[in-house]
Amino acid sequence: MPKRLIKKIKSIIKGGEGSKQLRANVIPDGQHHFNSSASNATNAIKVVNTLTKAGYEAYLVGGCVRDGLLDQHPKDFDVSTDAHPDEIKALFNRNCRLIGRRFRLAHIRYGREIIEVATFRGHHSNSANKQQSSTSDHGMLLRDNVYGTLDEDAIRRDFTVNALYYRPADNAIIDYVNGYEDIQNRCLRIIGDPELRYKEDPVRMLRAIRFSAKLDFTLSKESEAPIQSQSQLLGLIPAARLFDEVQKLFMGGVATEVWRQLLHYDLAQWLFPYSVPAKNTHPGATAMIEHAMVNTDNRIAIGKSINPAFLYAVMLWGPLQLHWEKLQRDGIPPVPSLQQAIQRTLQNQAQHTTIPKRFVTTIREIWELQPRLNRRHIKPAQQLVEHQRFRAAYDLLLLREEAEETPPGLGEWWTEFQEADPDAQKALAAEHTQPRNKRRPARRRRPAKPKT
Ligand code: ATP
Ligand code: MG
Repeated sequence: MPKRLIKKIKSIIKGGEGSKQLRANVIPDGQHHFNSSASNATNAIKVVNTLTKAGYEAYLVGGCVRDGLLDQHPKDFDVSTDAHPDEIKALFNRNCRLIGRRFRLAHIRYGREIIEVATFRGHHSNSANKQQSSTSDHGMLLRDNVYGTLDEDAIRRDFTVNALYYRPADNAIIDYVNGYEDIQNRCLRIIGDPELRYKEDPVRMLRAIRFSAKLDFTLSKESEAPIQSQSQLLGLIPAARLFDEVQKLFMGGVATEVWRQLLHYDLAQWLFPYSVPAKNTHPGATAMIEHAMVNTDNRIAIGKSINPAFLYAVMLWGPLQLHWEKLQRDGIPPVPSLQQAIQRTLQNQAQHTTIPKRFVTTIREIWELQPRLNRRHIKPAQQLVEHQRFRAAYDLLLLREEAEETPPGLGEWWTEFQEADPDAQKALAAEHTQPRNKRRPARRRRPAKPKT
């Protein structure tokens, strides 16, 4: 991005210059290869057409344009318009729901697909209204609902490659921030002054990691520079929003790289403080997390489903062990101490990223099944294989086995057992179950005390 443009954008964001001075680079049909039909943009284009027919300005924007230009399949579609939320609601009626307080926008539903429609955002210096614009003492935007024009909207977006607009009427791409060039150079660059933009919304630091990993783009030097020193700002983000971000970070098929970068930039400790190597001192815990990330990516790559609760169960397994071991050292028996350790581990984590109830139940079950996997008696083993969480519990067992936390061969035994027919299962169980009298030596009676 030319220095002149950066300077201008910074100045406009601070409210110093009239935004009219920003000129768009229009890439006409035929000079780019964004193909709306290859990108499955039918419904999003319908939304744009409905808005333009009603006299509003409207474009496809964000990830769908970026991914389309990179020949990748967009995850979802975003539309940007000068229509205000109430006007959008009036136009789309029952198919439209207005959501969000910090950032108000419209969801338009087509069957199972939801198109996100946002009104052009403008500069905050243009508003004194607290419902529209509000900033915390740390410079964080608590309300980002000041409306503006297309060029203002472009520079309020996070990265240059996310600020490209597609106009279906003439198949043109509109670019105010040199995003098209950055796409070609595979460069991820935050718009404006990086430190200020991270302060406005610290989640942008997580988005920087997510997009650079997902797109395999290089984060520009200036965009990268302030991340470590601003990382603590993530502590100000509500736990519910961080939960949503964590989902996106780890479910995009590049969890291994994302986790590596989160650690590198000191961001991980604000999401999973008890899982980072410094705190997660249980032997093998760090390797288990890395392994789970690799497995997650491999499953996504071959189109298999992912249970995010499983990843939480792995991330928090080390911290859980540390609690559990301590409680047992304090004299609490294994079963109640496991329950207490689970409670503490989940409560501590929920301070940082909320864990929805349905996840809590699954994580708890995966953990509770671990001690039961040590028993290789035929009846309980057969019941366990039928358990709804057996598969996830078994996957965790395999990771624990790699970390040398389980008796050797236990994972392999379960691998064979779950696939064996009932007779083979009996034989497998028999190999590990000795008759009672052989297993436990008979208790010797204490010699009677000599009578005195
Ligand atoms: P994907 O949907 O593939 O995760 P995306 O770029 O579409 O990527 P969304 O979260 O859907 O990301 O957001 C849509 C667009 O809204 C972004 O491309 C960006 O232009 C803008 N945007 C989203 N979040 C922010 C933010 N925190 N700050 C500034 N702009 C943002
Ligand atoms: Mg999107």
